[in-house]
Amino acid sequence: MKFETKLKLAAAAIILVMSTVAALPMFVNHQVATVMSELRGAANVERLQLTLLEMLLNAETAQRGFVITGDERFLDPYHSAVNAIPATQDALRSEMTSPQEVERAKVIEGATAAKMQTVEWTITLRRNQGFDAATALMVAGTGKAQMDALRNLIGKELTTYSQRRTAFGDQLLATSNLAAKASLVATLTNILFLGAVLIAAARVLRQRDAAEHKAQAAAGRVQRTNERISLQNDLLFRSAELMHSLELAETVDESAGVIASYLPRMLPKLSGSLYLYNNSRDVLERKAGWGDFENEPELIEALDCWALRRGSPHQFGGDHGLACRHAGGAAAARLCLPLVTQGDVIGCLTVTGAGLADGADDGRAWIGQLAEQLGLALSNVRLRVSLRQQSIIDPLTQLYNRRYLDEVLKRELARSKRSGAPLSVLVLDLDYFKRINDTFGHEGGDAILRKVALTLRENIRSCDVACRMGGEEMVVVLPECGIENAVRRADAIRLAIEAGDALHEGRRIGVTASIGAASYPQHGNDMQLLIHAADLALYEAKHNGRNCVRVAKQAANVQLAAAPTSAPDDAEERA
Ligand code: GH3
Ligand code: MG
Ligand code: MG
Repeated sequence: MKFETKLKLAAAAIILVMSTVAALPMFVNHQVATVMSELRGAANVERLQLTLLEMLLNAETAQRGFVITGDERFLDPYHSAVNAIPATQDALRSEMTSPQEVERAKVIEGATAAKMQTVEWTITLRRNQGFDAATALMVAGTGKAQMDALRNLIGKELTTYSQRRTAFGDQLLATSNLAAKASLVATLTNILFLGAVLIAAARVLRQRDAAEHKAQAAAGRVQRTNERISLQNDLLFRSAELMHSLELAETVDESAGVIASYLPRMLPKLSGSLYLYNNSRDVLERKAGWGDFENEPELIEALDCWALRRGSPHQFGGDHGLACRHAGGAAAARLCLPLVTQGDVIGCLTVTGAGLADGADDGRAWIGQLAEQLGLALSNVRLRVSLRQQSIIDPLTQLYNRRYLDEVLKRELARSKRSGAPLSVLVLDLDYFKRINDTFGHEGGDAILRKVALTLRENIRSCDVACRMGGEEMVVVLPECGIENAVRRADAIRLAIEAGDALHEGRRIGVTASIGAASYPQHGNDMQLLIHAADLALYEAKHNGRNCVRVAKQAANVQLAAAPTSAPDDAEERA
């Protein structure tokens, strides 16, 4: 049976019991009223019969007094009885209504009438015949016998009615007892039912409370899940954005800057640093940091970090667990994650902050995923940088190749055209290089090429670009540099090449170079014209005995300045 049905039945039972209890006083009242009415009737009959007996006795006593004295005044009680008896008998008839009672009442009435007749005769006899005649009638005993019979009859009636009153009293007592017991039973039943209902109601309330609690907990869980999903969506979106930006980064340093700009938004309650191995892979350099990272070291060694030693994430709880040496005794919780790609550790992401300690496991899992993605993305950047380097760097001399020269010259020319600043190119060819090859072998020639490339790099500004065109021919692009400064720079380079020998298999190899110089805009306003003009100037330098610098033909003859011996700098070029 369902709980609600049980509850309804219990309520119905309580109503029934309470109705019974409410009806009980009315029932008792009715019983009492009935009994009381009966009692009143019985008492009335007794009283009337006693009155009747008393009047008959009075009439007899009056008759006796009159017979003895002959005085009429003695007859007053007799006259009163004669007058009052009919009314008393009427009253008795109205009370004694059952057939038996009517029957008995008639007997008493008959006996009363006979007695009163005898009394009247005696009185009449005394009046008419005197004392003796009346006394003789009395002595005959008729009157006494009649009176005794009446006394007997009325006595019986009184006994009957007395018994009836006793019976009514008992009945009243029984009714009262029954009512008291019924009331007690009903009250106890009600208490039982009410107790049961109270227990049931308490259970229902407890169940409702538990259900409400459950519902609230479920709602809380749903809200937290929604918040987490929303946060994860946000993180995924930012993560995708970060990865996309990293795809566009051209250098590792640029990608580190990108990471440093994204991580504060992706891990807002935390601080951290990104370390990457340097080229020689002996230490890791801090490439980016966010939050409160100022106290983090610039360089760490692989042995300083448990995550790098193990090749897996390492967490330090702040007051327990193994602390990494690079943490420098800092008490904050810390998570170190190696950046691994294809089994190769390329760096390490360190994350610190209180948010890490109270963060859920999925928070750490998220940081782990982020580290994986960062490792992959940085590895891609490195690969891209390396491929690009390979595609634009000449492997023998480490100078840029011809492909890069085309690219850079085009770009710098366009910039010069926009800004109106001059641009110069130097075309350089080593003198009698065949002879060197013939004398020292190809390796000797290569050693000279490497040495010349180094000399070139050491004698140009950071904004200048030195390229190997092919063979032993090189080109230097000098942005924002007019022809006069270009010739000075070319001569300085020439002197430096002449001064620096290469060491090959214990033998010193020396070489000289001829250089042709041309400038935008006076010697040409596009790449080919400019290179061609410088080439012609180089040809002229070769023709004029080599180991010298010549300026392109279209320009006015430029007197060579005294050869500078110091290294060039930007200030000189700006002069
Ligand atoms: P010149 O003064 O007229 O320039 O005389 P040269 O001997 O240098 O003549 P040329 O420029 O024609 O000779 C270039 C030589 O450079 C030819 C080739 O054997 C040599 N060469 C070209 N590339 C390389 C290289 O990568 N390594 C070596 N060792 N030699 C190279
Ligand atoms: Mg040549
Ligand atoms: Mg040559």
